[in-house]
Amino acid sequence: MAHRHPIRRGRGLSHARRGLTVGTAGRLVQPRDSSRAAEPPKAPSEGPVRTCVGCRGRASRSVLVRVAVVDGVAVFDAAKTLPGRGAWLHPGDDCLELALRRRTIGRALRAPDVDLSALAVR
Ligand SMILES: [Zn+2]
Repeated sequence: MAHRHPIRRGRGLSHARRGLTVGTAGRLVQPRDSSRAAEPPKAPSEGPVRTCVGCRGRASRSVLVRVAVVDGVAVFDAAKTLPGRGAWLHPGDDCLELALRRRTIGRALRAPDVDLSALAVR
């Protein structure tokens, strides 16, 4: 017991001095900054998958085009933010044409009487 006292005293003194000035403030800020910048990376292939109403193929939501209903008219929802149900299509005329021919868009939107003329390929 008698041996420990001098050692503890010495360490305690220098520690307290540093902790008050640099230690607490300087060290807490750095790790927080770096953890805020490092967000969990997401693979582009991951994420919600939708079925194309044209070819019935499945693809990531991010590569498909969304169709939504606005006032009874089916429109392309470029921002994918319109409320209600959406029908998903591969970009390009092939899947759109298939979907129009098979009437799958109205079915997907639960709106069989929806006006599809705004989507029609010319
Ligand atoms: Zn398709």
